[in-house]
Amino acid sequence: MPVLEPRSGVSAAQKSASSNDAATQAVSSVASRREGIFGNCANPDCSTGWLHLFRRRGAPIFEGGWSCSTACTERRVEQAVLREMEGHGQAAHGQGARAYRHRIPLGLLMLEQRWIDAGQLRRALEAQRNAGEGRLGSWLVRQEGVSEQLVARALGLQWSCPVVSLPFHDREAMAPAMPRLFVDAFAALPLRMATARLLYLGFEDRPDPVVALGLERMLELRVEPVLVPDAEFRLAHAEMLTARFPRVELLEVSSLSQLARAVSRVIEKVRPVESRLVRLHDFLWLRMWRRAGEGVPAEIAGVEDVVCALGRD
Ligand SMILES: [Zn+2]
Repeated sequence: MPVLEPRSGVSAAQKSASSNDAATQAVSSVASRREGIFGNCANPDCSTGWLHLFRRRGAPIFEGGWSCSTACTERRVEQAVLREMEGHGQAAHGQGARAYRHRIPLGLLMLEQRWIDAGQLRRALEAQRNAGEGRLGSWLVRQEGVSEQLVARALGLQWSCPVVSLPFHDREAMAPAMPRLFVDAFAALPLRMATARLLYLGFEDRPDPVVALGLERMLELRVEPVLVPDAEFRLAHAEMLTARFPRVELLEVSSLSQLARAVSRVIEKVRPVESRLVRLHDFLWLRMWRRAGEGVPAEIAGVEDVVCALGRD
């Protein structure tokens, strides 16, 4: 693809200009500034060539790359959608089930640790069976007086996952981390920043590595799934759902190409300084940053989300 190299263009302009030719200098400084801001179009199939240098747009930026036109944005989003959809609807659930079978059952683990005795385990299993519902851990707590902290510790061992207590949860500070819909649907609770680059993501009885990884990719920091004891989790989770979250738009589409078009239309409209697309289970999530240099997670007004629920076929 023939692309005019802006740098050589600029230096040629500078060479031919006399040093006190203010007009020429102004033009070349605008050109070099544009080069710095825009660079080349990030769409590898871009057919605009160097003409894009005349397009006055510094945004949108999608996944670190600037695109020169609506068509180029759409092309890049299309590629990202295909990338995210790879493997969707296959394997994921089967793998989960397989991994689950390899875990030591919670009751057995607690028995081995001598945290409960055989009678307690038998009665809790019976109660669970009779009721036809509830997790074994909750039956041990409810009926056998086992402490929630102990059950959480056992779950932590079962899933090789740290258990974190929640003396205080700053829901407003954590709300910008992910859309409310995900906090709700995945029962995931952004807890706090452990360091500037490490976020604790809380779960009640079982960590969800897919959600943690999705959030990690979106926020570009490490996300560590942790378990939070039952009652603490439920309280903090219910409160979190009342927090103020970033603006979110729910997209309903019937095909992937329609999805790519709809997503790129939003990007073209919002003109974010950065945006990314990530899949979390059956949802595609687009996040757009309105301002550069946002903190992590971000300011509520500084980001905007688009969420699209995917069909299972
Ligand atoms: Zn382009």
